[in-house]
Amino acid sequence: MSALDLDETHDPARTSWVDVDERSDFPIQNLPFAIFSIDGRTPRIGVAVGGRIVDMRALAEAGHLDDSIDRSVLCSSSLNAMMSVTRPRRRALRRRLSDLLRNGGDPVLREMPGALCDTRDAKLHLPAVVGDYVDFYSSLEHASNLGRLFRPQGEPLLPNWRWIPIGYHGRSASIVPSGTDIRRPCGQRKPPDADAPIFGPSARLDIELELGFFAGPGNELGASIPIDRAREHIFGCVLVNDWSARDIQAWEYQPLGPFLGKSFATTISPWVVTLEALEPFRVPGPTQTPPPLSYLAQREPENYAIALAVDLSDARMRERGMASATISRTSFAAMYWSQAQQLAHASSNGAAVAAGDLFASGTVSGSLDGTQGSLIELTENGTRPLHLPDGGERRFLEDGDEVTLRGRCERAGYRSIGFGCARGTVLPALPQSAARGDAYGELAQER
Ligand code: CA
Repeated sequence: MSALDLDETHDPARTSWVDVDERSDFPIQNLPFAIFSIDGRTPRIGVAVGGRIVDMRALAEAGHLDDSIDRSVLCSSSLNAMMSVTRPRRRALRRRLSDLLRNGGDPVLREMPGALCDTRDAKLHLPAVVGDYVDFYSSLEHASNLGRLFRPQGEPLLPNWRWIPIGYHGRSASIVPSGTDIRRPCGQRKPPDADAPIFGPSARLDIELELGFFAGPGNELGASIPIDRAREHIFGCVLVNDWSARDIQAWEYQPLGPFLGKSFATTISPWVVTLEALEPFRVPGPTQTPPPLSYLAQREPENYAIALAVDLSDARMRERGMASATISRTSFAAMYWSQAQQLAHASSNGAAVAAGDLFASGTVSGSLDGTQGSLIELTENGTRPLHLPDGGERRFLEDGDEVTLRGRCERAGYRSIGFGCARGTVLPALPQSAARGDAYGELAQER
């Protein structure tokens, strides 16, 4: 096992002249990227430190960044071009940013106050134009729990699961940034005692707590990404909520897998935490039995120690000013299939991966009570409701529920960093006529 690949930007003693709260997710050791705008102006690339955003375009135009990354990349309105930059150049940029922001570093940024803004004044957008979106199914506990619920008579794990990082292609056009409201989907479902399916609003709307990665430079069509080089092809990570309509999913998923039960909305956190920032938290994953085939055999630790949590509040709790309830706490470190294995597998047939493609992990679940990343697991398919602090019960999501995912890396000897959050509030389903499409006109008029 080789040592971690660390440099001065990971030094826990390094501090910024920007005021950073001790509990902030964004100390100088993190430096995540997002796309932000102020007052409706053209979106641009920003880097977070504490509660402030560094305007990368302003820095680039002032000539304060290394010329090894083309200025048009730094002045873009999405991160796709930045994600396609090679890892050594991305590292050089990180070192430069860290030096501009550290106490005792290059003072030029301090002398251009217009290059920093307050996060509260900014609107955060999707970080990249997501060309392709894949969702894996890489937690052994989640796959086993769902197998038991969906196929109570059979083996929980299908025979291929321990050999293949199972995944499916999702809908990239339905990916939304944190803060976007989520409309309860309508769809076809078959109540257990009915002879025929019905169409209507999902009655079993759920969440899936996941971590996703944005692809970096990618590969040519016909080539593949070897597992030993997978990390060079990963730009960074975000929190992902793969909203799921369990009743639609249960009726439609065989034989081709998830479709409309998943494709109506996927929320991601806006700040992309780079793989360089995550390096101190890289850890070995669980032992894999049987050993994976050689193209999936990893020689280095490829998991990340990230504590994840899900908070839920209903409309009544928010009206009363009550804090949200944490309904799940789990760890990403125990995921069976790593991101490196996912990427090596996804490209093993020569499929092209492009910068800005999003790969989500699958629901992150542990084996203990309260460590599962979905309501269907936490409530045992709705049979054991969760109790909310205002006296309410939850089996599945109700209209008005607000769900917030959080993630934070902690390891002795290193400065903790975090992901911010991925939040969404459930809106009631559209009236049936509107959902069927005859209200296209009405919706257009609303806009
Ligand atoms: Ca999922």
